[in-house]
Amino acid sequence: MRAVTYQAPGEVRIEERPEPVLGHPDEAIVAIEATGVCGSDLHIYHGRVPVAPGTVIGHEYVGTVTAVGDGVTRVAVGDRVLGCFHVACGSCTACLRGDYHRCERGRTFGHGATLGSLPGTQADLALVPFADMVLRRVPEGMSADTALFAGDVMGTGYHAVAHAGMKAGDTVAVLGLGPVGLCAVQAAVVGGAAHVFAVDSVEQRLDLAARFGATPVHLTEGDPKAEVRGASGGRGADVVVEAVGAPAAVDAAIGLARNAGTVSGIGVQVGRSEMNLGLAWLKGLDLRLGLANVIAHVDRVLALLEAGKLDPSPLVTHHMKLDDAVEAYALYDRREALKIILTP
Ligand code: ZN
Ligand code: ZN
Repeated sequence: MRAVTYQAPGEVRIEERPEPVLGHPDEAIVAIEATGVCGSDLHIYHGRVPVAPGTVIGHEYVGTVTAVGDGVTRVAVGDRVLGCFHVACGSCTACLRGDYHRCERGRTFGHGATLGSLPGTQADLALVPFADMVLRRVPEGMSADTALFAGDVMGTGYHAVAHAGMKAGDTVAVLGLGPVGLCAVQAAVVGGAAHVFAVDSVEQRLDLAARFGATPVHLTEGDPKAEVRGASGGRGADVVVEAVGAPAAVDAAIGLARNAGTVSGIGVQVGRSEMNLGLAWLKGLDLRLGLANVIAHVDRVLALLEAGKLDPSPLVTHHMKLDDAVEAYALYDRREALKIILTP
């Protein structure tokens, strides 16, 4: 089968790989119908998240089940399914607490040895461990474009807001309007935020955020702090979602949050960084960080997508063939696309 592989910083390639075979009763094999190119794939592409050359990448997928192990009961051969970007066993101590994203046997598709050596989904076929936990049937009539978001980007945007404990009536600021930030805007609006301020420096992204019900604020031409304070009696945001993945953005989030507010850092952070921890301490902030617990949210996210209350379809800017993955990554790297969907 064909698969997109990482080779070196700035270089991916289509390679032939053996088709996956079931090795455990809890596994399923999915024939990929659509697979996304994601911001986290770009971290790999840049070598910022190291994976071995030859690693099959990709982790957003919709497809049809072609084989299941004897232990799989919730999906069957022929089902059209979407999958979560991470897998979880459902029975370890972390899973029993509901922390599926910290599963002791957890693995992430297409992220190399540090995240469990699970081959990615930018391929003709994907092997899915713990299929009952990870896969969901696509609701009748839902497009692959929309369904694909439930298992990663929308699940992550939803997590950023839910994990922050946002309540109806809160004032929310979202820093960074990539696909995850824009999905967080939608999740905050749907969750009943009184105000959602959406901060970025790209006009097209600010326009989309406004369309989704947020107040757009240009990072440098506008004054995010003044806007947020103006809407909150001078206090600051109850919840700040940091969806950039840069230390400076966490620092800005600390500055925008109200006393005893919450900063929800969903952007990928690597290594040590400098931020005003003293200010965070003085404000008594709740800092909530890390990978999204997408499995915990996927059914609610799917319900909201099916009801049309969350709608990521405006984020899909490009459809390309799997064979054109090299071009797709180059295009995404030039920031000419918000979401590219590849079809085998
Ligand atoms: Zn992704
Ligand atoms: Zn587990």
